[in-house]
Amino acid sequence: MTPTADEHHPNEPTEAPAPHRRHDGAYRWEQVELLAYKAEGTAPFRDVTRQVLIERPELGCQLRYFEVAPGGHSTLERHEHVHGVMVLRGRGACLVRDTVIELATNDLVTVPPMTWHQFRAGDEEPLGFLCMVNAERDRPILPTDEELADLRRDPVVAAFIRT
Ligand code: MN
Repeated sequence: MTPTADEHHPNEPTEAPAPHRRHDGAYRWEQVELLAYKAEGTAPFRDVTRQVLIERPELGCQLRYFEVAPGGHSTLERHEHVHGVMVLRGRGACLVRDTVIELATNDLVTVPPMTWHQFRAGDEEPLGFLCMVNAERDRPILPTDEELADLRRDPVVAAFIRT
């Protein structure tokens, strides 16, 4: 028997999602919860939401949708796990290692292991992107003062990063 949404209770183990979950036209999907990007106060960020679109134990990875509101930014961080990103909505820019990259819809970004990265929306429109990530992953690391000073040696990077 196919489970319905009515039979799902939040404290039960996650059931397999329906084979098809419809997009509602505004970057929300059926049976997908709108989540905080991270717990407030754990790391610097501004105006980012997170939705876990696809996650199954057999996959070993998750597909998430992040949306950065105009003027917002994700955390400047690095970690061993990698990100595979595709821009789905709007425009913005990101830092990967020591390079600031302008982003447009449908662009692809790969973040290798232990590489500094940060995403920012422009002031006019949100930046929405898919992010594929390992299901089991290490905790992000924030830059030390020394590492920040090092990053800021490049004036383009210095002007871009938000902490
Ligand atoms: Mn990351």
